[in-house]
Amino acid sequence: MQKHACSLSLAAGLALSALSFVLAPSRAWAWGAPHGTITRAAMATLPSWQKQLLGAELQRLGETYCIIPDLVYTDKTNAPFATMDTHPGVVYLVNLHLPAAPAENFEILRYFMDKAVAAFKAGNVGDAARYSGTLSHVLEDWGCPAHAVPGDNMFTLFKQFLPPPPAQQYTLLHSPVEGGTFSVALDAYRPRLLGTSVDEAAFNLLHRSQEATIFARGQVVPIIQALYAGDTNAVNAAQQKAATLDAAVVADALHTVCCLGQMKFEAADDLSAVDLSTLLPLQAPDLYFPQSSFFSKPYWGHATPGVILRNGTEPVPLRLAVLEQGQAVTRTFASGIGTGTRSVLTYLIPADVYQRFSARVGLHAELGKSGSVIFEVSGNGKSLARLGPLAGDAPAQLLDVALAGVTNLQLTVTSAAKDNTGNYAVWAEPRLVKASLP
Ligand SMILES: [Zn+2]
Repeated sequence: MQKHACSLSLAAGLALSALSFVLAPSRAWAWGAPHGTITRAAMATLPSWQKQLLGAELQRLGETYCIIPDLVYTDKTNAPFATMDTHPGVVYLVNLHLPAAPAENFEILRYFMDKAVAAFKAGNVGDAARYSGTLSHVLEDWGCPAHAVPGDNMFTLFKQFLPPPPAQQYTLLHSPVEGGTFSVALDAYRPRLLGTSVDEAAFNLLHRSQEATIFARGQVVPIIQALYAGDTNAVNAAQQKAATLDAAVVADALHTVCCLGQMKFEAADDLSAVDLSTLLPLQAPDLYFPQSSFFSKPYWGHATPGVILRNGTEPVPLRLAVLEQGQAVTRTFASGIGTGTRSVLTYLIPADVYQRFSARVGLHAELGKSGSVIFEVSGNGKSLARLGPLAGDAPAQLLDVALAGVTNLQLTVTSAAKDNTGNYAVWAEPRLVKASLP
C-alpha cells in the first residue's frame, strides 16, 4: 500500500502513483496483483445464478474493480465508488486499506454493502460490481499481513520489533511483507450467507474480517524472519495462508451482497441467533485494556470464551448448577465466557436485528463456591438487567432482556465478596436471539 504515503505527501504520492500506474499497473498496489488473485478465488465459489447475475461485470470485478481504492488518483471514473458520503471530499480513505476500530470498520462494511445492494436492486449491475470491488479490496487489505497492525503501515514499526540484518537495514518492509507470488484456491468452499439485511450482514462480516486480521497478524513475524533469511518460499507460503482466508471472507461478502440484491436466500445457514462468546468484545480487537481493569481476580487480564481459568491459567470447562424440576444439577456448557471480577465486556451490535439477549449466569459450580458477584447487562449505557449478589452455592439464573434500539451491549460482573478470589463467573450460552420469546 504505497498509496498510504500519498496521504502524507500528496504531491509526491500523485507523482509516484501516476508513474507506478504506467510502469507496472498490476504490481504496485497493496496486496498488489494478489488483490485480483484473491477476488477471483472468491468469485469462483459463487453459485452459478450469482455469476450469471454479474455477467460481463464478473471479469472486471476480478481484474479492475477490486483495486478501485488503490487507483483513486488515476482512475477518476471509478474513484467515486471508493468514497463515502460521510467523508465528503476525501479522495483517499485510509481506512479502506488499514483496519481501524471496530465501530469505524462496521460503518465502512455497512456503507459499501448497502451501496452494492441498492445498485443491484436498481438493476445497475455495473455499479453494484464496482461497489463490490471496493468491498472486496477493503476486506483483502484488512486481512493482509502488511496491514494487520491498526494505525501502522509497517514501514518502520516491525523493524523495531525485529531488527533487520545490516544488508536490509534500509529496506522498507511494507511491500516485501505483502507482495509475493502465490496462487489462491478455495476448492469446495461454500460461501456463507451473512444476513438477510445489510445491517445483519455487515455485523457478521465485521467479525469475519476480524478473524482475517488476527490470522494475518500471525503471519507477520514468520514473513519478516523469512525475508531476513532470504527464504522466498516461506514468505510466499505465509502470504498465501493469509490470502486464502481473505478469499473465503470475500466470498462470503460477495455471495451475501448478491443474495441481498435479489432478496434471494436459498442457503441453509442458521441466522436465528448469534453466540456472543464467538465474537470479540470491543476491548479485545483494540487490544486496549485500561490499566485499572488489570486487577480482575482470580484472572489477571481478560475473560476467556469456552473455558474458565483456575487461578487465571488452567482451563476448566464451564459448569453451572442449574435447577431442573426443582433439583440443582451440574451442567457443562460448551458455549460461554468465563471471567473474574471486575469484568466489563462491550459488544457492538446492529440495532433491531436481534430482539433479545439471553444467558445463564452464575458462579462456576466447583471453583466459585466462595465467590459472590453481581451480573449486569447494559444497553447504550442504560442498565437492562441486574442479578445478584449471587453466592457460590446459589443455582444459576436465566437472564433474558429485550434489545430494542441497542447498539452497544455491555456485560459486567462486579464483586460482592470481601475477597475476589472465588469470583469464577460464567456467562453460559450468551446469545443474541432474533425471535422474541412467547
Ligand atoms: Zn489498498
